[in-house]
Amino acid sequence: MIDVSRLRLEPGEARAVEVPIALPVITIGGVDYTGPAAPAIARVDLTRLRAGLLLRLRLSTAIIGPCHRCLEEAVVPVTIDASEYQAEHPEPGAESEEVCDYLEGDDLDAATWGADAIVLAMPLKILCRADCAGLCPSCGTNLNERPCQCPPPAADDRWGPLRDLVTGED
Ligand SMILES: [Zn+2]
Ligand SMILES: [Zn+2]
Repeated sequence: MIDVSRLRLEPGEARAVEVPIALPVITIGGVDYTGPAAPAIARVDLTRLRAGLLLRLRLSTAIIGPCHRCLEEAVVPVTIDASEYQAEHPEPGAESEEVCDYLEGDDLDAATWGADAIVLAMPLKILCRADCAGLCPSCGTNLNERPCQCPPPAADDRWGPLRDLVTGED
């Protein structure tokens, strides 16, 4: 928690504060993903403007969990650069633009902000590497380690009827 009032920022002044961010366990499809054991350190820049407070949170960390294709541990780097703004006198009805959800009075809950930002930045598919070959659907061999002897996947057969059409076979 950052007590903004203690920074005593005058209009035009800025201050950077470092905050440790612990990544929550994120469960996707029954699989748990988490961050590195040591909490990541976020840098929060607070700038007092004439009519409000500008907040920027930057953070580099990683998401760790099983690879979507081969189930081996994957470490996916995540970089956050998020901004919020809190107007001194927010206009009613303009809430999302002028009110920072993580600011409660003078207390900025940077830890929750950082954790939320990491969840939002989570890639749709966690892969150990972009070209991960995955597991063979027939025998379960990790194809990153060695090829297996299984015939090519049956998925290719969807072209079968088309091929028959073209060659006139029945
Ligand atoms: Zn993989
Ligand atoms: Zn196989």
